[in-house]
Amino acid sequence: MSDNYQAVVVPNTPVSRPRLVEIEQAVMTFLWDRGIVSRQRATRRAFLFFGEKGYPPGPNAPRYVHTRAEWNWPDCRLGTTVPHGLNIRRRKNGSWFGDLNQAAVLRCPLCMAVQSDVHWWKSPFDLALKQACRIGSAVLVCPGCRTSTDFNEWEITPPSAIGKLGFVFSNWPPLQNSFVRELATVASSTLRHVQWLI
Ligand SMILES: [Zn+2]
Repeated sequence: MSDNYQAVVVPNTPVSRPRLVEIEQAVMTFLWDRGIVSRQRATRRAFLFFGEKGYPPGPNAPRYVHTRAEWNWPDCRLGTTVPHGLNIRRRKNGSWFGDLNQAAVLRCPLCMAVQSDVHWWKSPFDLALKQACRIGSAVLVCPGCRTSTDFNEWEITPPSAIGKLGFVFSNWPPLQNSFVRELATVASSTLRHVQWLI
């Protein structure tokens, strides 16, 4: 089984650093108080993908996800099989939440032409992606209609998001939509929920 990642991301619109700290504190306090994640970080580096220590799920986590037998949930102790947990990803210049290894499909917002097999490390997409991460927007020229449009307006499959702050749930069953909406209320911010497999 692949590893499943879901991220709840604060979109990369201009947000001040103090505001991001405030959002992070509000969301984590909510997650801790509701028993959705443990207050204690994992004691070992179980989250190799991000190279960080994460928070294991709390006792009430199953109430906020779609339960499926194959997830072996809620038996999600760290170190048993694949780690389940929450990592906070903060990046000063913004980062990409999604699978960069997989070729993407992009749809031009103007002519609707589809470009398949787009690899993020290849120009011009790598440049657009880096710029969008850094300053929140980037211009991408459609090879079909030759029009320049903002990177953020392109429809990208699989779904992905760019942001300076994201809460990454590793190997959790799909989060309930109502839970994601509740997080947005707690954060007083729009949030994007994306999911990818690796
Ligand atoms: Zn086009």
